[in-house]
This record gives sequence, structure tokens and C-alpha cells, in this order.
Amino acid sequence: MIRFNPNIPWKTRGNGAIALKIKTDKPESIKKNVIEFIKKYSAIKDGANPGLVFYQNENIPSHFSEFGDRALCSLIKRNNAKEFVSKNGLESFYLGNGQGLVGAIGAIGYDFDDHTFELISYRNKSNLGKKREIFKQSVKKMQDLTYPNTFNSFDEQKNRILIAPHGPDPVFFGIRGEDIDSVIRGKSLVFSSEKFDGYMVFRTNQGTGAHLKNELDVHDLKPFSSGHITGKVIDIPRVEIGGHVIFSIMKDDQKIKCAVYKPTRLTKIVSNLIKGDVIKIGGGVRKATKNHQRILNVEFLQILRLERNMKAVNPLCHACNKRTKSKGKNQGFECVKCKKTFPNKIFEDISREIECRLYMPVLSAHRHLTRPMQRIGKLNNKIEFDDSRKWFHISKSGKAVNKKLEIKINTRKLKH
Ligand SMILES: [Zn+2]
Repeated sequence: MIRFNPNIPWKTRGNGAIALKIKTDKPESIKKNVIEFIKKYSAIKDGANPGLVFYQNENIPSHFSEFGDRALCSLIKRNNAKEFVSKNGLESFYLGNGQGLVGAIGAIGYDFDDHTFELISYRNKSNLGKKREIFKQSVKKMQDLTYPNTFNSFDEQKNRILIAPHGPDPVFFGIRGEDIDSVIRGKSLVFSSEKFDGYMVFRTNQGTGAHLKNELDVHDLKPFSSGHITGKVIDIPRVEIGGHVIFSIMKDDQKIKCAVYKPTRLTKIVSNLIKGDVIKIGGGVRKATKNHQRILNVEFLQILRLERNMKAVNPLCHACNKRTKSKGKNQGFECVKCKKTFPNKIFEDISREIECRLYMPVLSAHRHLTRPMQRIGKLNNKIEFDDSRKWFHISKSGKAVNKKLEIKINTRKLKH
């Protein structure tokens, strides 16, 4: 399951695509079936534009990966995808406008340099649209027992579960983690009053920060592109109405305006930046409109060098350890106690409230691709899928527990 550029305005919510590699001696019957499934289950009425591409070969050429890389960090028009399909003689199928072809091609060639897993459980049809009753305490406990091998399941600060979507979609909950065993264990620790129909484990680029790995070209900042820039702060951050913070950095004589949005809770950090600080920021480029110029929406901030913050203050009388008072404009300063005079203000260092380190948005503002703090420097690149693990499972009776069980799990240690 590949998440593509989250900064595309007309994307579906998660901008995701799925690639399946199938070894078969009946390719035609599989293709026919997949097309039937897409026709039957796609949410066309809700505006979905699904795309499907078949590539029948042992090896995947590198230009498929390049396409995937571009779909991760930039904007690809659906006509480019259609051209790619015809140039490469691919079999394809789409509904709606064909926008889904971009993700379908990109997913075939996606080159993982890091991955995580997500176990997604699916609701019974009879429950679609109903509120998901998942026992909060079990999710909290699951996180306590499995973190950091699972991540972003429970927001301790807001006391909220993060594993379940809120809309009418068929996903019941998703457990994100580093390996298959951890997400399956995580699933077994989550309790609810609803039976679910089954689950699937996906290898994914979620939590890898892959959309920000490329350096943005400051001479050609394309709208809706994602990446990172290292530059020097050139103006003092300004708090806008709504609590968002705007500032600018300079890189190669180019001024780049940056915005930090309030829900990220990074606003307090960036408000402390001063001219001369060197920072690395990642994010997406927002298109210029009539009212706004082009702007980089900040998704992470790494402070590389802090400038000394000097402030001119009245001199201190060292004999009395007292701050002096001004005698009037251009008339120097005088100690209130011993009356000693001083000609000029002096400069003092003001301590900086921020440090040279990486700052990330709060959990609730993370996107699917956001690399969580505990994954910094982590690289999974060995593929773990093999026949020994059940990467998909259809429930016979679903898994239901009653309220009694939730009370139980709060009071005794779970053994799994
Ligand atoms: Zn004095």
C-alpha cells in the first residue's frame, strides 16, 4: 500500500494505491476478476476515480520506479499517466476521469528504501455507517505493550484512539507497525463490541517520510511538490489570525515564504526563530492564489544552527549590581544608587528557548507518510512476507467481546 504525494489538491483522502504481485498460469482470468471487483466495489458515487494497471513481467523496469518517485513528490497529470500506459503497452482499466492511473503505475514500480506495515481490519457490511465502538483502554494498553514496534495508535495527550477512521468506509481499524508479527499482536490486543469480517496486512511506505526525502529546487518551486529545503531565516516569524505562523528563509538568493499551521503545535517553536538561524524544513508547496503568494507548508523543522540573540539593554552597575537608568535621550545612563554614569547601552545574550534538534508536529497532525520521532534513522528494507505468516484472514464468526471483557483487560495482565 503506497501513499503518494499528500499535497495534491484533488487526491482522495489518503492518496493511496495498492500493488499486488501474483504468480499464476491463469493471468487472463485474474485480470477479468480484478476488473469486476473494481466495477463492483469502487465508490464512484462518492467521486472516486479508480485506475488499474496490469504489468505482466518478471522484472519491473526502472522507469516505473521513476514514475513512482515523481508521484510521491510532485504533481503528475492524468494525461501523463495515460501516455505512460500507451507508450509501455500496458493493459489498463479506469473509471471516472482516470486520475487513479497515476497511483496504479506508481505503485507497480515503487522503490522501497524503507517500509512499515499496517494491518487493516474490515467491517461487516451490516455495520457500515455505524459508530465504531472500540474500547479505548484496550488500545492504550496495546500501545503500552507493543510500542515502538507499533506506532501512532493512541494519542496520550488528547486521550484519543488513532487507529480508527471516522467516515463510512469499510475499514474498522488499522494497526501500524515495524513488522508483521507486531501488527498481528497489536490487533489481538484491541477489543470492541463489534465483530469484524477479517483483516489484511500491507507492506507500506507510511511512517517513512519518503515524500520529503528530496531537496526542493528553490529556483523552480513547483506548486504541490513536496520535499525539503535548508536555509537561513531572514525575517522574524509573524503570528497570523488563526494562530498560524509565517516566516521566510533564504536559500541560494531565493526567498521562500513558509507557513506553520496551528494544529501541528510547531507554532510555538517557530515563533522563537530569529534572523540568521539555519534550519532544515520539509513540507509541501502551496500554489499561489490571488490573495496568497506561493508558500511552503511546514511538516517538520530541524534546527541546525542557532544565531546568538543579542539585545541592547541599559548597562549594569557592577559595584552595586543594579541596572542603570537612562538620563534622557543621548545623555547616557546612571546608577540609581552610586550615581556612576555609563555612556552607552550594552549588548546582552538572551537565552534561546529552542535547541538544535528535530521538531515534529503533534501526533494528531501526522499524515500517513509522516515519519514519527521514534522512527528517525530507522530503515526496514528486508521484505518479510513469506508463506509462513497469515497476512490475510477472514473471520468465521468475527471477534466479539462484551463489556465484561474490557473490565477484565484493565485489571489483569494480558498474555498473548
Ligand atoms: Zn552603582
